[in-house]
Amino acid sequence: MTTDFEGALASAAELSARYLGTVEERPVWQPVPDVARAWFADQDLPQLGRPLEDLLADIETHVLPYPMGNGHPAFFGWVNSPPSPAGVAVSSLMSAFDPSCAGGDHAGPLLERTVVRWLAEIVGFPVVSGGGLLTSGASIATIVAVAAARQRATRRLGYDVREQGLFDCPPLVVYMSQEGHSCLRKAVELLGIGNRQIHLIPVDDAFRMQPKALRARIEQDLADGLTPIAITGTAGTVNSGAIDDLSALADIAAEFDLWLHVDGAYGALGAAATHPDPLLAGIGRADSVALDPHKWLGVPVDCGCVLLKDPAIARDAFSLVPAYLRDDASGDLGWIAEYGPEQTRPFRALKVWATLANLGRAGVTSLVDHTVALAEGFAGSIAARDDMALIGQSLSIVAFRYEPDGYDDDAIDRLNSALPVAIQRRGRTFITGTTLGGRPALRVCILGPKSGEEHLELLMRDIEEEGSKLLAN
Ligand SMILES: *Cc1c(COP(=O)(O)O)cnc(C)c1O
Repeated sequence: MTTDFEGALASAAELSARYLGTVEERPVWQPVPDVARAWFADQDLPQLGRPLEDLLADIETHVLPYPMGNGHPAFFGWVNSPPSPAGVAVSSLMSAFDPSCAGGDHAGPLLERTVVRWLAEIVGFPVVSGGGLLTSGASIATIVAVAAARQRATRRLGYDVREQGLFDCPPLVVYMSQEGHSCLRKAVELLGIGNRQIHLIPVDDAFRMQPKALRARIEQDLADGLTPIAITGTAGTVNSGAIDDLSALADIAAEFDLWLHVDGAYGALGAAATHPDPLLAGIGRADSVALDPHKWLGVPVDCGCVLLKDPAIARDAFSLVPAYLRDDASGDLGWIAEYGPEQTRPFRALKVWATLANLGRAGVTSLVDHTVALAEGFAGSIAARDDMALIGQSLSIVAFRYEPDGYDDDAIDRLNSALPVAIQRRGRTFITGTTLGGRPALRVCILGPKSGEEHLELLMRDIEEEGSKLLAN
């Protein structure tokens, strides 16, 4: 006889399978009507508990109709993928097992060391024992990386930043391109370096950081008495998928003895392609890399990762275990919590392991090849049209503008600003917009193994049809 618990687990698994199996029969996304919204906002904490089966019925009725949209193959917004089947399948086991992966001698930390090594191998980063950890996302991964860069630089200057803070330390400077991600700003503000000390370097026509401008700015800053500590290159910008010339940045970092961090949250996985973009080859020369298994790889949210060439520096920045006590039962690598800000940590490694073991290296390569090929095809069809302008395509992101004849720049800007929401509300496809070169643009980010040309053709029709409606008003 099955218990209530076993019955509910089986029902939950059945509901997950039914939900994922019927995603294409529902709108990609739909606005939440007021009555439905009230269920979320107005419920009272129940006095008496309710059976699990009732709760599952509530989830089916009230929750599942209002997705963000990323499970659908016609979803091309932001950088959000559908969940990997293997990741979904092991998610309830993660909770059933429920360790804290702060450290210790048990399955969680052991498996985490291995999946971090696998991720490093995939993106072409030299594998060091204990050279990285899983995080909630690239934002925390970036905090770990910048904290390590700050630690190394301040130690060299003779400051103990953990004791003194940055009170009498000279201003530390970090470099990023104009197209870099705002998570660096969060990290730099949080670590007391200050947003003013992020020096944004101009980009070229392909939205890549200009190495010459970087080098000139570093020389200027040194002449002004500032203390440059780190360069952040991006492997796959959110706006257009642009990859900085990482090898050129690595040369400059070596010349001025700076930390090189690579934000590969989205694009580092592009290194798994059959013919990877040669610009990605420089990843291996970085001191740290942030990447997000919860993006292109499809590991269910949340899962980021930071890779570290010299993990001892991150340990020096975060560990609260005195050096003489570090060689404990969990080996000389110590506890994972010594390398970052999180103490209690979930068993993220299980869903990464399941996803990678299920796909294999060949499956990861197919996923990347498939989505990049779709992006290239879509970019080609944009470039072939008179009423559209291709702004850029790199990896699986395409940035473009709809520019039908007979309208002035203002009207075209208003059209491109309004299009994403109009398309989203229709519910057939989903894109988001951005600003590139100071003007509103449309962008498509293709991450799903089930996304196909038919979904992009549907998107093209949505752009034309919603576009003419907007222009008619
Ligand atoms: C998503 C993303 C981030 C932020 O990562 P989170 O996982 O959301 O914390 C940083 N940089 C790039 C390029 C990204 O795509």
